[in-house]
Amino acid sequence: MMPLEFYRNIPQKECCQCGVKMVEQHESYHNECEHCLSKVEE
Ligand SMILES: [Zn+2]
Repeated sequence: MMPLEFYRNIPQKECCQCGVKMVEQHESYHNECEHCLSKVEE
């Protein structure tokens, strides 16, 4: 399987805070990008 096809099958998520597109990764259950998550955790 081509790596590109693998990624194509992953639904692209957007950060619900800033709208940045995120590639869904392993154990990625957040709706915010790392940047917004770090702000939320204050
Ligand atoms: Zn964000």
